[in-house]
Amino acid sequence: MLDDMIHYLKDIRHRPVWSEIPESAKYHLKQEIPQHGQSLENVYSEFKEHILPYTKGNIHPRFWAWVQGTGIPTAMLADMLASAMNPNVTIGEHAPMYADIQVVNWCKELMHFPPSASGLLVSGASMANLTALIVARNKKLKNVRQQGLHQYAAQPVMYCSTESHSCIQKAAEIIGIGAENIRRIKVKSDYKIDIVALHIQIEADLSAGYEPFCIVANIGTVNTGAIDSLDDLIKIARQFDLWLHADGAFGALAILVPEYFDQLSSLSEVDSVAFDLHKWMYMPYEAGCVLIKDADAHRESFAITPNYLSHHSKGLAAGPESYNNYGIELSRGFKALKIWMCIKEQGIVRFGKMIEQNILQARYLEKVVIENEYLEILAPVSLNIVCYRFVVPGMSNDSLNSINKNICMELQTQGIASPSSTILHNIYAIRVAITNHRSKLEDFKVLVDATIRLGLNLIQNRNN
Ligand SMILES: *Cc1c(COP(=O)(O)O)cnc(C)c1O
Repeated sequence: MLDDMIHYLKDIRHRPVWSEIPESAKYHLKQEIPQHGQSLENVYSEFKEHILPYTKGNIHPRFWAWVQGTGIPTAMLADMLASAMNPNVTIGEHAPMYADIQVVNWCKELMHFPPSASGLLVSGASMANLTALIVARNKKLKNVRQQGLHQYAAQPVMYCSTESHSCIQKAAEIIGIGAENIRRIKVKSDYKIDIVALHIQIEADLSAGYEPFCIVANIGTVNTGAIDSLDDLIKIARQFDLWLHADGAFGALAILVPEYFDQLSSLSEVDSVAFDLHKWMYMPYEAGCVLIKDADAHRESFAITPNYLSHHSKGLAAGPESYNNYGIELSRGFKALKIWMCIKEQGIVRFGKMIEQNILQARYLEKVVIENEYLEILAPVSLNIVCYRFVVPGMSNDSLNSINKNICMELQTQGIASPSSTILHNIYAIRVAITNHRSKLEDFKVLVDATIRLGLNLIQNRNN
């Protein structure tokens, strides 16, 4: 299996990015639960026949859909080691606990958070954002753990932009704030939050008797990669005594690129940040991280010590404080090992170089699009996301939307490349989000050529 997978990774470029799943494979995955076992060889050949060839494709050099990571081979090996050891990294005196703490401390260094901050590795940025917003709520709105939110005469409200990720809404719903109490502030033409509009909205809410408690900054919006102005948000958060949380799912790691350092160095000033290691740190799923500046507030949001989790001075129940006191989950896998091994093997400088390479690829694609008469750029390229479409003069927006949707689907079904899509101001955009350490410049040339070829074909078929 190990040999097969290493060859599989080596040859990934020569396979289609994606292949439709045949009915036979789907049928194979709809069987009743086996009552009796069979040989591992049989099971493995079923895997090779029906699962492996029909994977999502995000490890392929021409996969740029949504925001997905690629995975480093060393991490695959680390996952095998972690799975063999299979420690539950929540509590106790054992080396995996210290490896996990080490990785969290490195994450603090990456984000320029002080050593006194706290943090937690979680499944991904959705969970990291939720964890941070629970702490924000509990810190700013008193006694919520004891008495819930209904003691509040004033409705708590929080702020983000119209471009914020859907997981922020989910988090607001889960923590009892409610979707209607998220103020989605409009963005400017660069897709960054409109600071003046935010200011006006907070003042209006205060005079209407609401209880503002939190602002969520976007460090790389999912649609276009826009980075909200952190310095302005820090000022407003201080002025109104609000918690400032940064959703930096992929964008926060651009702090490793010298050109972005000035823009992102004030991440050290926010109250909390969420980011993913399975996106722009190229780790295999799953790995996200939340950092909280005020470690006491973090602990006070989650700490519960039942009798069966009590700490001892010696033996297995000694050791670092239980992670149970810092998050929702009790049982936790050893996801820290893959991060620990890859950071040690590669070094942070190289991660910064890979991230920078993806940003330069986005700019290259932007340039090619701008210079081509059949292509149009649809949003400023501020980081690693390019939104573009195929255009010909004289066609209605509706027709162009339909053609571009078909181009996107054909690129995928023909296994050429996997961009995804979004809608910007009613315009269907082919969206390329580059968090892929296997992409080369020539891969973007393939994408551009195929977009134009498919677009022209679609027009010709329409006219026939
Ligand atoms: C991907 C993403 C999330 C959600 O992260 P998961 O790891 O998928 O849970 C949140 N915010 C932004 C901006 C993202 O790109």
